[in-house]
Amino acid sequence: MIEIDEVTKYFGQKLVLDRVSLTVNRHETICLIGASGSGKSTLLRCVNRLVDHDYGTIRLDGIPNDDPSFGKTGLQKRASIVFQSYNLFPHMNVLDNITLAPRRVHSVARAEAEDRGHAILARFGMDGFARAYPEQLSGGQQQRVAIARALMTRPDVLLLDEITAALDPELVGEVLAIIRSLKDEGMTMMIVTHEMAFARDCADRVAFLADGDILEIDAPERLFSNPAHDRTRRFLHRIT
Ligand code: ATP
Ligand code: MG
Repeated sequence: MIEIDEVTKYFGQKLVLDRVSLTVNRHETICLIGASGSGKSTLLRCVNRLVDHDYGTIRLDGIPNDDPSFGKTGLQKRASIVFQSYNLFPHMNVLDNITLAPRRVHSVARAEAEDRGHAILARFGMDGFARAYPEQLSGGQQQRVAIARALMTRPDVLLLDEITAALDPELVGEVLAIIRSLKDEGMTMMIVTHEMAFARDCADRVAFLADGDILEIDAPERLFSNPAHDRTRRFLHRIT
């Protein structure tokens, strides 16, 4: 469970997160939507401390995320993030890309890391590409590898930041299908997305951010069909 309590973040003088509070329950999928600059990525990054917030607390299973018992790498192992740009190492093949962090950072033996890697790749229909290099893969395949890499540390939480935004439309579905299957398995996820159809189908709750705070949060069927705020309504009209 993730408890975000009154989290505030400034970049310089600019208030980017304004006392955001949100509890994400175990096995829950929360989609974050909102205009560009509303603070979605920053909120996601604060959870696993790619960005350090200034005030408030973020707890994972009751423990503050800046508690020394985690350490940053320990925290990022439990809360893995995937970005819009897949960020694979171009000079390494797929299997090396996904086994690098477990081996180097988390001291998993090579054989075990590779077994784990083959299993995850097979699940995503990618095992035939274990020895391929990123440039030989489609965008959708590269993003599937990036998701596989995020799962290699067996995280409790997945943080996904517009992971389909850079993909050609025909490749979006294959990536979203993977996320859907992770949800069905009970993964806890915070997902920043502009794919409203996906949010409607996959989210347990959708949070609409505006000016660094959650303006409203509700079940997708309610938020999409009958938003409480005009601002949410206008946003939804604009993008759908
Ligand atoms: P988008 O939909 O465009 O990705 P977002 O909702 O994810 O937007 P953020 O990336 O969280 O928005 O940015 C929120 C605000 O914080 C923006 O005004 C942005 O310019 C600013 N910001 C984000 N990262 C930094 C940074 N590293 N340094 C300074 N300002 C930043
Ligand atoms: Mg963003």
